[in-house]
Amino acid sequence: MSYANLSRMSFEISDEQKGFLEKVDGACRAIREYETQCYLEERQNDLIVPEFGKVGMLGCPISKAYGGLGYDILTYAFALERIGREGNSLRTFFSAHVSIGQMVLQSWADDEQKRRYLPQAASGKMIMGFALTEPDAGSDPGSMTTKFEEVGGNFVLRGKKHWVGNGTMAGALTTYAKGPDGRISAFIVDTDSKGFRAREMKDKMGLLSIKNAEVTFEDCIVPKRNLLGTMGKGLSIAYSALIDGRLSVAAGAVGVMKDCLDESMRYSQKRQQHGSLLAKKQLIQEHLASMIVGIESSRWLVYRAAAARQRLHDYVENLKEKVPHWQAQLNREDREYESLRKKADRLAAVAKLHATNAAFDCANRAVQVFGSAGYQKTARVARHFLDSRAIVIYEGANEVLKLKIASLELGDKYQAY
Ligand SMILES: Cc1cc2nc3c(=O)[nH]c(=O)nc-3n(C[C@H](O)[C@H](O)[C@H](O)COP(=O)(O)OP(=O)(O)OC[C@H]3O[C@@H](n4cnc5c(N)ncnc54)[C@H](O)[C@@H]3O)c2cc1C
Repeated sequence: MSYANLSRMSFEISDEQKGFLEKVDGACRAIREYETQCYLEERQNDLIVPEFGKVGMLGCPISKAYGGLGYDILTYAFALERIGREGNSLRTFFSAHVSIGQMVLQSWADDEQKRRYLPQAASGKMIMGFALTEPDAGSDPGSMTTKFEEVGGNFVLRGKKHWVGNGTMAGALTTYAKGPDGRISAFIVDTDSKGFRAREMKDKMGLLSIKNAEVTFEDCIVPKRNLLGTMGKGLSIAYSALIDGRLSVAAGAVGVMKDCLDESMRYSQKRQQHGSLLAKKQLIQEHLASMIVGIESSRWLVYRAAAARQRLHDYVENLKEKVPHWQAQLNREDREYESLRKKADRLAAVAKLHATNAAFDCANRAVQVFGSAGYQKTARVARHFLDSRAIVIYEGANEVLKLKIASLELGDKYQAY
């Protein structure tokens, strides 16, 4: 980006988009108390779908042709930032259902698959999720052991995935398995398929109002029409989904920090110790300043990453209109696509790495500002602290993102993982 472009950098939104964000804000307010209750009782918040469905958030970035609102990725990021203020738990539902659930279909599914799944998902009739991680293949999904083979007119999947967000309530998941030739392919699996089983993962440290599942494929039958994208290209599909996942986590992390700041400002302006308000103490102000720096720096990284992801999206959508076998063109190393993809990948990784580290630090500081009043899960800052532990691990653990960021700059031959 040149300096001339930078000086015109603008992330202004239209009145229509503002109206949408106000509705998202309304839905967040409507579920706030219930979300706290569900979190404390460790049960799935069953108001998310009806309340956010009413305002279209369940299909915010999905094309109008497939039942979504058709908003751009930046508007979706603004909405996730707002949702993040209610906590990573609530935001994780949207990451799983929309970012890595539906957006991967929007990018890679054929028209028939999109018609079959997206309108249902965007309206909340069907919940979606993303099943990549296995007990022995986390940061290195290429070492997965879930297998598929073609039997008659179907694929048969065998293996196990875990930590699948929304896995206990999903109607369909995208998943990834190795074929007899060792190449990984992507599939859409209906959860009522023969041989599919999902079991809730218990005793989590945080993210208590959404559920994660261990998912087993026991000779699970998947019809051939549910192959997602080109055979053997599953890992690049998964990695492209993770760009959207990381962006969603980073956007939500900005919201988490904003709520930590608001809570800390409110509390420090009413709590007195040693004869004056906490807000008058320089060491407390240092915590607040650090939160503000975290918010401001992360927010711009998220907006830049969203803009880069939008350019990638626009390029591919344009190609889809013009080139019938567009996936084959991308597989033949389309240079423009590669350059846009790498940029979106790098900026999403930078935003996720920075914003999640900042959010974890921010939540820790917020609990410190509250002292013992921030130590019970009834306090918002306590929940932010517990939930922010997960965000530095999932959607690419932060160590692995550092390696990715460096190797994208150095070139593939320096890949350290
Ligand atoms: C709450 C939660 C929700 C999740 N939701 C989903 C979901 O919806 N779908 C899904 O598929 N998965 C999901 N995951 C899984 C998540 O993506 C993985 O946990 C993550 O990719 C890390 O894998 P791992 O846990 O196996 O850790 P490992 O890969 O075993 O890593 C352990 C540690 O080693 C570090 N490490 C690994 N490789 C290297 C290296 N080369 N150099 C330096 N350090 C390294 C990691 O950074 C980490 O700190 C979720 C996880 C959690 C905790």
